[in-house]
Amino acid sequence: ERKAALAAATGPGATADGHKVPLLANIGGPADVAAAIEAGAEGVGLFRTEFLFLDDSKNAPSEEKQVEAYRQVLEAFPEGRVVVRVLDAGADKPLDFLTPGDEPNPALGVRGLRTLLDHPEVLRTQLTALAKAAEGLPVHLEVMAPMVADRADAKAFADACREAGLRAKYGAMVEIPSAALRARSVLREVEFLSLGTNDLAQYTFAADRQVGAVSRLQDPWQPALLDLVALSAEAARAEGKSCGVCGEAASDPLLACVLTGLGVTSLSMGAASIPYVRASLAKFTLAQCERAAAAARAADSADEARNAAQAVLSGE
Ligand code: PEP
Ligand code: MG
Repeated sequence: ERKAALAAATGPGATADGHKVPLLANIGGPADVAAAIEAGAEGVGLFRTEFLFLDDSKNAPSEEKQVEAYRQVLEAFPEGRVVVRVLDAGADKPLDFLTPGDEPNPALGVRGLRTLLDHPEVLRTQLTALAKAAEGLPVHLEVMAPMVADRADAKAFADACREAGLRAKYGAMVEIPSAALRARSVLREVEFLSLGTNDLAQYTFAADRQVGAVSRLQDPWQPALLDLVALSAEAARAEGKSCGVCGEAASDPLLACVLTGLGVTSLSMGAASIPYVRASLAKFTLAQCERAAAAARAADSADEARNAAQAVLSGE
């Protein structure tokens, strides 16, 4: 039993009956790699590349500078998965030289992939740098776009990846309800989905993630959010593709079990949360997680959903 507890404390993520749920780290750059490895991350599920763009308010970083940063991260996970998100500028992450300054509602304006499609040279440089950084490495590189709204967005991103000669899986983040509702259509163009539950909550509830007064609506236990997670995961399963979560929701040990029960295939979070999520998953079977997920979806509020899942998993 001690041995099992130890394995659960360090090994790959799995439910009590051995259903694998890779536990990946969210990182902002090479400086976060050590903590991810220390926590036993099986790879990187979200590399937020914005950090590279923060040094200079007028220009994008050079291709060389990007290659170096990406290479450092890719080399740290020789056999693992590394999911790199291309630049997500705008709204809560504005960049002077890319983000329009005159938008009345920046969260609903030109941000994420929309910014990159308006500045194709920035996207091209980033994808070329990624291709060069991955050259000769055995790493499983995956690249995804933030703020994909529909199939046309997914196609534009996949085309840009192909044009850059990138040998990687291409994915779409699900952060806008339209992408969750039509996930199968988005999956015609890309090979995986990753749910950004922070933005998905913001756009589902019309509740700005930066406004504390509406934080009740940012609660990832909201049943409406769980419904959109389920829709995305079911679409991915039907297409034989993966659907991870890389928003804050994945770092809640109880919610991690519910997400697994909804059909999510990997969980990515800040390194510090990985041991807690690993331990929580190891306590329950996939069938228990599925029952907890069904109970949470049947609730009418975030608090009720949390209590219902807790009741199922503690055997009440
Ligand atoms: C999200 O929106 O859930 C997400 C992972 O991306 P970010 O928090 O960087 O917007
Ligand atoms: Mg986001």
